[in-house]
Amino acid sequence: ESFTDMCLHSSIMKDITLHEYTRPTPIQAQAMPVALSGRDLLGCAETGSGKTAAFSIPMIQHCLAQPPICRGNGPLALVLAPTRELAQQIEKEKYELRAGVHIVVATPGRFIDHLQQGNTSLSRISFVVLDEADRMLDMGFEPQIREVMQSLPKKHQTLLFSATMPVEIETLAQEYLCTPVQIKV
Ligand code: AMP
Repeated sequence: ESFTDMCLHSSIMKDITLHEYTRPTPIQAQAMPVALSGRDLLGCAETGSGKTAAFSIPMIQHCLAQPPICRGNGPLALVLAPTRELAQQIEKEKYELRAGVHIVVATPGRFIDHLQQGNTSLSRISFVVLDEADRMLDMGFEPQIREVMQSLPKKHQTLLFSATMPVEIETLAQEYLCTPVQIKV
């Protein structure tokens, strides 16, 4: 499958061309159609596989499809990542975000801090990515991840990526993902 077959928003296609991504990587070819269809996803993939774009593109497509004005003005999508460095890298994968598209990328600890300080809100989030979930658990972020997942609006889509699939990740997926499609590259 090519990017052209995925019916992506023209502004996203422009960025794909700009980045000179000629064809989807294996994780992108498998994960993007699933994520674009609105289903939850449990993806086993390592850094370097192109997984950032595999979740960022469907996330932006999802955000662009939301009505422009909703109650409040919190973010529409949330990416939780294990470290600030990784969060910054994800931000840098710069798919041009249009005005009104609001995505937050943060570590679980920092995101909870901002929630508690009233700097952000979960009330409009309908798309969540847990990136490098195994590393987040290794770093002790399970309580924060659970707190976020339990407080989300009922209707949301979740993508969970992990390099390894220990039982703790399977448990988390069973609890918070809705009949996920499983992908392994
Ligand atoms: P990641 O696994 O997300 O860290 O991505 C690894 C690298 O692959 C990054 O530098 C991306 O810019 C690049 N990349 C992602 N998708 C593609 C693609 N379809 N074609 C070429 N390079 C890509």
